[in-house]
Amino acid sequence: MNENYAVIVIGAGAAGLMCAITAAKRGKKVLILDHANKVGKKILMSGGGRCNFTNYSIEPENYLSDNPHFCKSALSRYNQWNFIELVEKYQIEYYDKGLGQLFCKKSSKDIRDLLLNECRESKVDILLKTPISQINKNDDNLAFTVKTENQDYLCHSVVIATGGLSIPTMGASDFGYQIAEQFGHKVLPTTPALSPLTFDKRWLNKTNNLPGNSLDVIVTCNSQSFKEAMLFTHKGLSGPAILQISSYWRQGDPLSINLLPNLDVPEWIKENRNTRPDIQTKTLLASEMSQSLASFFCDEFQCHSKLKQLDEPSLDKLVNSLTNWTIYPAGLEGYRVAEVTLGGVETKNISSKTFESSLCDNLFFIGEVLDVTGHLGGYNFQWAWASGYAAGNYV
Ligand SMILES: Cc1cc2nc3c(=O)[nH]c(=O)nc-3n(C[C@H](O)[C@H](O)[C@H](O)COP(=O)(O)OP(=O)(O)OC[C@H]3O[C@@H](n4cnc5c(N)ncnc54)[C@H](O)[C@@H]3O)c2cc1C
Repeated sequence: MNENYAVIVIGAGAAGLMCAITAAKRGKKVLILDHANKVGKKILMSGGGRCNFTNYSIEPENYLSDNPHFCKSALSRYNQWNFIELVEKYQIEYYDKGLGQLFCKKSSKDIRDLLLNECRESKVDILLKTPISQINKNDDNLAFTVKTENQDYLCHSVVIATGGLSIPTMGASDFGYQIAEQFGHKVLPTTPALSPLTFDKRWLNKTNNLPGNSLDVIVTCNSQSFKEAMLFTHKGLSGPAILQISSYWRQGDPLSINLLPNLDVPEWIKENRNTRPDIQTKTLLASEMSQSLASFFCDEFQCHSKLKQLDEPSLDKLVNSLTNWTIYPAGLEGYRVAEVTLGGVETKNISSKTFESSLCDNLFFIGEVLDVTGHLGGYNFQWAWASGYAAGNYV
């Protein structure tokens, strides 16, 4: 037997929940379907269990997309202050971890429960463990049939909120891309983003005693720079600076890393050479980083002498190496650990105001399934809230 809804949202993640709540508050009868066994799994695991739910400063420049203008409208109509207001309504304690990144003080569960409560109050139906086999537009062209194993559902609007490909064990699938293509949309090539980078065997050998060591750096690639922490791991490099730059890095690209971004390095070396000429380069570096890193970089830069023994060309070389250490990562660690997916449903045939497809009436795409990817720092959830809210007002 068919059951009728005004709106069916596929995906009980951040974007789908926000869209369902917004639509239900307008009086729409809404059903959310998800194949996972829990609502908002990525919310629960996000921000190290404390969900970085938004950022004090949200700008279109914080997003990557083939069409950098696409995100502007939704982000301005539901901004960080709107979500903060909701968080405060629920008296969820939060804090700024730095760089405007807002995290829950207690647990990500607070955000998931907030959304679940809003769903309950606005009478959104949620069905979990429900794989969808087909979505078809009906002959009268007015409604969709959503087929699941046990039941078919009829609805006026379908919202695809199935997210990206990262962390398949959490329910990620390419279903949203398949539906997009079924209705004539182009799906831009996808790749893991906000992902650790890997080293090849030779570099892993060179750095085998460094995992766990971190330092603040400025990392640059393809004209983008981030000043944050970089961490050596058993597979290569991670930490916020590396996750951020991974969204801009392409196979074969070098990373340029300023290892001492808080110092005027030429001046610092000159001054130490004058005041402490007998100091070993390694000892000097160890005043700004761990002993292991200082040792590694002295090997790497072939610089094991006292400062006074360095002639001008050697000094220039040392300054250049410290401020522009160039390395070639082997690859991205991949969807298993990446926070998001770059690429996805092309925004060209999606309204930036309503998120409706221009190729199929009453079909909507929101959240990470679209070709809009945020920086690290709460930007991806803000995109989910904003796009979900926008579509929720038009379904
Ligand atoms: C480890 C980790 C930490 C993160 N931390 C942060 C953070 O702190 N701040 C931040 O802003 N962003 C963070 N992100 C990114 C953020 O979680 C996502 O960008 C965001 O969840 C995207 O929301 P969404 O609703 O579009 O998709 P999702 O939250 O991924 O939801 C998609 C839903 O669709 C369901 N689904 C998928 N395929 C199907 C199918 N075939 N049938 C039925 N249902 C399906 C899934 O089960 C899921 O419930 C993190 C991501 C990861 C992986």
